[in-house]
Amino acid sequence: MTSRACGVGHGVDLHKIGLLRCPPSNKNTTGSHAALKRPILGTASRVIFQWEDVVAARLIDGKALAQAVREGLAAASAAVLAKTGTKPGLATILVGDDPASHVYVKNKQKACELAGIHVDDHKLSAETTQAELLALIEKKNADPKIHGILVQLPLPKHIDSRVILEAVSPDKDADGFHPYNFGRLVEGHPVFEACTPKGVIKMIESTGVPIEGKRAVVVGRSNIVGKPLALMLLQRHATVTICHSKTKDLPAVCREADLLLVAIGKAKFVTADMVREGAVVIDVGTNKLPDGKLCGDVDFEPVSQKAGWISPVPGGVGPMTIAMLLDNTVESARRMAGMA
Ligand code: NDP
Repeated sequence: MTSRACGVGHGVDLHKIGLLRCPPSNKNTTGSHAALKRPILGTASRVIFQWEDVVAARLIDGKALAQAVREGLAAASAAVLAKTGTKPGLATILVGDDPASHVYVKNKQKACELAGIHVDDHKLSAETTQAELLALIEKKNADPKIHGILVQLPLPKHIDSRVILEAVSPDKDADGFHPYNFGRLVEGHPVFEACTPKGVIKMIESTGVPIEGKRAVVVGRSNIVGKPLALMLLQRHATVTICHSKTKDLPAVCREADLLLVAIGKAKFVTADMVREGAVVIDVGTNKLPDGKLCGDVDFEPVSQKAGWISPVPGGVGPMTIAMLLDNTVESARRMAGMA
């Protein structure tokens, strides 16, 4: 496989972050070489575009993008600290013994440290009552050193998640799950945006393919991914279709998509025949195969032969979801410090 440097601009180093795979004779309908010359996330210094003579889609490397976001946030956190004497602070609240949740929270805490965010860690037993959890959230709502509150889901069955998420102050709702923030998104004036869809938007933007005017198809309509993602795309002037388990002829709808965003939780569900040539395909799904390996909702190998851009699982949306949690926390600290 040969490669050559073919463009210089400002932004994150695309070579480092893995946006390498741009065939000179690429026939995709959504992206263009010129579009690549946009800065990615606008955080760092020099961009070197490097294209390789391959026919597969270009990879959207969420892990590298997330690292670039964290680096930008570390500088923003330092500025908050310099102005207020306090680092941006995230309270993490985990109830119970679910091993996966413990891993997720640990990863989020580690990422916080790398971005200069103070972590206020709360691990509560599975027997914690709803009243006790509400009391802790009230305390964190009132704590001026805390700018974001994360309540890791799922909660034990005896606790009503809705009541808990609505108890988090909308001003510290780093996950973007509070109905107030959802409503702000619906009316087109978001404050905190849900982390996973916000990360997906950043990933699309990183490709340089403009969202405006595109046909976007979102597969999945959950409150934490599909619905907010559709609204974010709409706000950016895409023409949006939301699909779900009752959608008729899903493959035909998917084939209309310039931007195909999939969040259903079914391993390798989206096959190459469902994808338009040159489409941007972002795979939110996280599924465990019988051998323990992770895979997405998209059948990666065949779809990557047809798509213009594609995100992998793992290493795609997951790291960007965490990066957006940090982004929301730092943004909240900046707002509270009068810096935003
Ligand atoms: P939900 O289970 O809440 O929602 C799934 C959605 O997919 C529903 O709207 C459902 O439709 C739809 N759906 C299910 N089967 C089909 C089908 N055959 N055809 C069309 N639509 C279908 O899931 P989430 O949104 O919470 O998560 C989706 C996936 O994304 C999961 O794999 C999850 O693990 C992953 N995820 C990953 C994150 C990350 O950071 N990487 C973060 C959040 C989620 P209906 O409404 O009709 O039931």
